[in-house]
Amino acid sequence: MAGHELTPLEDALAHLLARAPTMTETETVNLTDSLNRILAEDQTVPADVPPADNSAVDGYALRCRDLQPGKPLPVSARIPAGEPPQPLTPGTAARIFTGSEIPPGADSVVMQERVETSDAGISVLAEVTEGQNIRRRGQDLAVGNLALPRGTRIRPQEMGLLASMGVARVPVLAKLRVAILTTGDELVDPGKPLGPGQIYNTNRFTLLGLLELAGCEVVLCESVEDTRQATRNALQQAADRADLIITSGGVSVGEEDHVRAVLEDSGDLSLWRLAIKPGKPLAFGEIGGTPVLGLPGNPASVLVTFLMIGMPLIRKRQGRLHTELTGERLPAAFQIDTGSIRREFVRARKELRDGQVCIAAYSNQSSGVLNSACWASGLAVVPENTSVKPGDVLTFYSFDELLA
Ligand code: AMP
Ligand code: MG
Repeated sequence: MAGHELTPLEDALAHLLARAPTMTETETVNLTDSLNRILAEDQTVPADVPPADNSAVDGYALRCRDLQPGKPLPVSARIPAGEPPQPLTPGTAARIFTGSEIPPGADSVVMQERVETSDAGISVLAEVTEGQNIRRRGQDLAVGNLALPRGTRIRPQEMGLLASMGVARVPVLAKLRVAILTTGDELVDPGKPLGPGQIYNTNRFTLLGLLELAGCEVVLCESVEDTRQATRNALQQAADRADLIITSGGVSVGEEDHVRAVLEDSGDLSLWRLAIKPGKPLAFGEIGGTPVLGLPGNPASVLVTFLMIGMPLIRKRQGRLHTELTGERLPAAFQIDTGSIRREFVRARKELRDGQVCIAAYSNQSSGVLNSACWASGLAVVPENTSVKPGDVLTFYSFDELLA
């Protein structure tokens, strides 16, 4: 696949997804530790949720047909939440609270605000219909139904739903173990002084954050010297510990681009000049059976290629169910006079202009300008060979959607 042609993003993705099998290793974790994990088994509803009909309001449970104009209903019982109710005495009402079980025999609940109380009982001031203010047994989850399928990423609401079914231990897929290797002799870690010719290693930290959000376990995070031997050693070490290796830099065609060279030596290299901007050079290969995704070096390119290629790869390996990205279609508030032959991912955000939501772009879209991504809340897509004028409708993907 190497060559001078530009490769469409979709072609590169299809190639590497076909070489990234889903993990099968599972473990069981406490519900409290399940956030962002991937369900390893279908979760079927073991019993109705809620388990019984209950009141949606504070008020009075009664039987509609007992109501007669001008005749108060005596209050025969009081049902606090958490206590099983006695059957309703016919011709009476029961004081009831939000979440209290409906007593057998009652068929509706009247809000306390719609009732006048007296020594004789309650007089209902509003019309009453059967079933009103009753939350039905099983209305949230009905016994035997599929609540959450295998592959679901557990968000806070899924944690709550599992709890509502009484699940305390959750079968999840093992966390994908990822190694980060950054290359470049010019790189220094933050906290140290910069010497001449040096810059701080930013990709290492961008990737750490991205992988954490993606629910991966970073098992190794190192910078690698720009030599063939050091790169080979680092890749081999990483391959022993990780399910996926992500590198940054060193995948161009210069003689200091050793990631490319080592993957080439290992006989399994796909090197693309991707038809996307930023993020042209991208490598994919394998070391000792572990897939290696070689991202470019420029900080904004790292972010874009991770989101557009790394995330689909990770989701597939993690066994996540995922629905197609939809993005949002919004008018641009910016202009690009000469469209690129590459599809451009513009660091952008939504802004209100004259009451209209539109996409604003950061002023400097250089692949070396990471501040563009901090200013932005997502990526706007400018198709290949397309110029943009204000008002043209583009697709905008939020960073949240790209990482979901
Ligand atoms: P390369 O692909 O190795 O030629 O890197 C391309 C550009 O990205 C060069 O300007 C590098 O200095 C820069 N770069 C590579 N890796 C990093 C990194 N980890 N942090 C910041 N800049 C980097
Ligand atoms: Mg380099």
